Amino acid sequence: MTPCRSIVIFNSNFAPTSTAMHLQFATQNKHKALEIQMMMPPGVVVKTLQDLNCDDDIPETGLTLTENALIKARFVWQKFGQACFADDTGLEVEALNGAPGVFSARFAGEEKSADKNMQKLLLDLGNNSNRKACFKTVIALIVDGKEFIFEGRVDGRITLTRQGEGGFGYDPVFMPDGYEKTFAEMSLDEKNKISHRGRALAKLVSWLKTVN
Ligand code: IMP
Repeated sequence: MTPCRSIVIFNSNFAPTSTAMHLQFATQNKHKALEIQMMMPPGVVVKTLQDLNCDDDIPETGLTLTENALIKARFVWQKFGQACFADDTGLEVEALNGAPGVFSARFAGEEKSADKNMQKLLLDLGNNSNRKACFKTVIALIVDGKEFIFEGRVDGRITLTRQGEGGFGYDPVFMPDGYEKTFAEMSLDEKNKISHRGRALAKLVSWLKTVN
């Protein structure tokens, strides 16, 4: 990875206005964008693909989280010439040999249904007493064509049944180590402090601060 130049980033790529600095996120997922917005320092506004009037479903054909995050960030960089970041997340379950991993979104099929994904996960695991799992997130940032990678991970276990109404994706069946509640039973703030995405983003934010 190439070291970054601060002036380039804040002058030309994050589209600063008098009151806010815009940071483009290559996602259609408003829930995820909200999570990330909540973790940003004051004055940074996270923009989604909807803000670019882009409704493309960017194909995630990579074999690793890093490849997929880069595919999404490069898509926006190439199509809109705009600095941006993208993330890719996978849930790895020990007893399933690391599945669903990079295929987490499509675990139960192309429909990408969170409901069906959790149903399949609980069925595949059955009563297996080894419920260890981890979430991993990779964030790829492209600034002036230069690529930067930030990673985060949280360890935990898969519950026997769904618990909680909040969050999204696999949140109702993932209980982080040290807690007796799932991500879906936590406030967004609580989840962000310990989550895979929160940890990856904290690295991105501290990197942004070092170049500012
Ligand atoms: P993506 O990389 O954001 O597309 O996520 C891949 C899969 O993991 C999708 O099924 C998401 O719903 C799920 N996922 C991503 N982040 C989280 C999370 O924070 N909690 C629960 N599930 C997640």
